[in-house]
Order: sequence, then C-alpha cells, then structure tokens
Amino acid sequence: MHRIEIQKGETVLSLDEEGNCAYIVESGSVQITDKVSSQGCYTVGPGEMFGEYGIIEEAHHYSTAVALEDTILVVVPQAEIEEKSASSDPLISLFLNFFMDRCHSLTVRHYGTDEQANIFQSRRTHRQNKIQSSKQEIVERFRIKEELEQALKNDEFVLHYQPIISLRGGYTAGFEALIRWQHPERGLLSPFHFIDIAEKTNMIVPIGEWVFKEACKKSALFNKRAADTNSPELFVSVNISANQFTVPDMVERFKNIAHETAVDVSKIQLEITESILMEDADSSKKMLQELKNFGFQLVLDDFGTGYSSLSYLHQFPIDKLKIDRSFTHDMLNDQDSLEIVRAISGLSHNMDIEIVAEGIETMEQLALYRDLDCHYGQGYLISKPLPEQELYDIIGTRMSFGRKKP
Ligand code: C2E
Ligand code: CA
Ligand code: CA
Repeated sequence: MHRIEIQKGETVLSLDEEGNCAYIVESGSVQITDKVSSQGCYTVGPGEMFGEYGIIEEAHHYSTAVALEDTILVVVPQAEIEEKSASSDPLISLFLNFFMDRCHSLTVRHYGTDEQANIFQSRRTHRQNKIQSSKQEIVERFRIKEELEQALKNDEFVLHYQPIISLRGGYTAGFEALIRWQHPERGLLSPFHFIDIAEKTNMIVPIGEWVFKEACKKSALFNKRAADTNSPELFVSVNISANQFTVPDMVERFKNIAHETAVDVSKIQLEITESILMEDADSSKKMLQELKNFGFQLVLDDFGTGYSSLSYLHQFPIDKLKIDRSFTHDMLNDQDSLEIVRAISGLSHNMDIEIVAEGIETMEQLALYRDLDCHYGQGYLISKPLPEQELYDIIGTRMSFGRKKP
C-alpha cells in the first residue's frame, strides 16, 4: 500500500482504463460517475473505498473518479490483497474468494473488448480454482484436527527425553522433553509430521498442556533416581509454542498443573522462541514474568535464527539461551558463525545468562564450546532423545571429555 496526493479536478481513474487497485480516501473527497450500476453519480469521503472492482476483476473500470478537492488516497494494489489472502487462514481465504466470485457472477459486462472479456473470464476461473483448493485444505485440516483430538484422548502421545550435560563437569544436568506420536497405523511419528498442523489447528494448546503435565510428573521420578545415585539434581525442559501464550489463563492453568503434580517448579524449564516475544510483547512479557515469579526457569530456544535481537535479553526474564544448532553445524567451517557464537557466549557471561549449545555431533564442536566456557551441551554426540525407560541407566553417569587442550 502507498499514499498518493491528488489535486482538485484531477482524474484518479477513468472508464475503460485497466485497473488493478482500489483506493481508500484518507482526506478530501472524490466524485464517482458510474456508467454501469444504478448508483449513477456519487461522492466518496474519508474512510470510504472506491475502484474495488480493480481488485475483484483486474479488468477495466466501470467508472470515472475525479477529485472534488485536494485529496489524499491510500492505494491498495490487487497483488497485495492476493498475497495476504494466500497467507491467511484457508477459511478466510475461502470466504474472500467465494464472495469475490459472487461479485463477479453478479456483474454483467455490457461492454468491453474481447480481450477484456477474456481477462475477466480467466480471473474467474483462477478464483474458482483457488476456492476448490482452499476447500480441500479445510477438509484435510479438519480431518487431522479430529485425528489429533483422538490421539490425545487415546493417550497416543509419548515423550522422549534428550540428555543435556554440563560442559564443565560432564554430568547429566537435565533432559529436554520432545513429543512423539505413537500412531496406531503409521508407527512412531516425530514432531515434524504433526507439530505444524497442531499449531495451525490450535490443537497445540491441549497437546502442549499434556506435554507440560507429563514432564512435571516425570521430573520427580528422574530426581529420585538422581538422589539415589548421589548425582546432581535434574531439570526437565519443555517446549512451549507461541500459540499457548494466546490462551488468556495459560499461566493460571500451568500453576494449577504444577500444584496438582506437586512438582518442584525450580526443576522445570520452559523453552520459548523469539516469536513469543515479538508477537504481543507486553502481554507475553507479563505472562513470562508471572511464570518466572512462580519459579519456572525460562529458556530462549533456537537463538540466533529469525529476528534475534539482543534487546530481548534485557527486556525478558531469560535464564538460559540455546544457541541454534545451525551455528554448531557451521562454526568450524564458517568464520561468521564462529564469531556469532563467540559474541553470544561473551555477552551471556556478562549478563549472567547460561548457554546451552544444541546439536553437538562431533568432539571438535564439543571441545570448542568447552573452550568458550559454555555451560551446557546437547546433541547426538552425547545422546539422541530416548524413551523414558532408558533414562534411568544414564542418570548418575558422567561423560568423559579427555584432556583439555593446553
Ligand atoms: P527443538 O526444540 O529445537 O528440539 C531439538 C530438536 O533437535 C529435536 O528434534 C532433537 O531430536 C533434534 N536434535 C537433537 N540433537 C541433535 C543433533 O545433534 N543434530 C541434529 N540434527 N538434531 C538434533 P525433534 O524431537 O524432532 O523435535 C523437532 C522440533 O519439534 C523441536 O525442535 C520443537 O520445535 C518441536 N517440538 C518437539 N516437542 C515439542 C513439544 O512438546 N511442544 C512443542 N510446542 N514443540 C515441540
Ligand atoms: Ca527446544
Ligand atoms: Ca532448538
């Protein structure tokens, strides 16, 4: 969208001219002389729209529009509406295209060249195809939503846990809880197959609550085993989706679950991503502060990707930062990645924020993070995510790093 200034008496659009945008009057007024509809001649003022058929049809205009005074207009291009419609919820896109098609079908073209008639028809066909594909997507989404609801009811979700070790002492410091779906026909599914759709259908809210509750329950068992083996206390880290923060009483619900499961909240970490901080900063800030005051630890996941802004670290009560695994992957071959990792680690030391290095797959990567004095490490080199039963043998063991480089 952009703004244009029109002088009194100037023509904004004229009959039969190609049109591919609509106009919203910001100030001033415009006289429309409509040659087709029964409206005839009328005036539009601030807040009103005209030329919308440019968006619906992308064909020639029906009317002439002339500024009655010096006027400012906001131009809304058809391409922008198309783009927004395509990226919106399929239900919204379906409705928009459906009503545009209705407008199309009600419009009878009385005049115009064959070429214009062809444009008109081809846009209609294009729009009808979009309606068809939105309909299919909505039906498919609804089916998956029902499947996820059923899975939750039938207890088909399970948590696997990936060990996170102290890079200083080598001992297991905690676990990240990672969801899997034990699908009755398709076997064990990774989040890749369903988290995205769970977010789009908002099923992530009840699923995320289940994950949180399950992790709270298991935290006590892991810590009992840690106490029995005289090893350090363990935290359990839970991924929280941005959608969960749109539930107004989310904090209250989490507190209730914590009470119900009698979990020691200081041993539960909530992993959030920057999108939570960006979307509705004030409301999320308040919720995060409440969670933090209640005793949960907060971890900023996938740090360094997306819109990473160091200012978040001042604004939000973050305890730990997880350096995204793409940096771990690249840092030994790419100087820029290495510098970013160095900068994040230096800054976190100054700010008293702990660092978790993700995706460690080689001894070289592990050695580099140890040299940078990062606090925690996680990755396939240390262990893949494991089913609960396999964890009890790990608790109490220690990873040996060999001798540190002189
Ligand atoms: P994430 O939070 O970044 O979790 C880490 C992912 O990296 C996990 O994938 C883990 O298995 C994988 N990983 C760990 N070490 C390595 C390594 O050394 N190399 C490589 N290449 N990968 C490694 P997973 O379990 O498939 O989970 C994928 C994503 O799904 C998670 O990314 C998280 O965004 C989401 N997710 C998982 N569980 C939950 C959940 O309970 N709730 C929500 N909202 N999201 C979840
Ligand atoms: Ca995570
Ligand atoms: Ca991550």
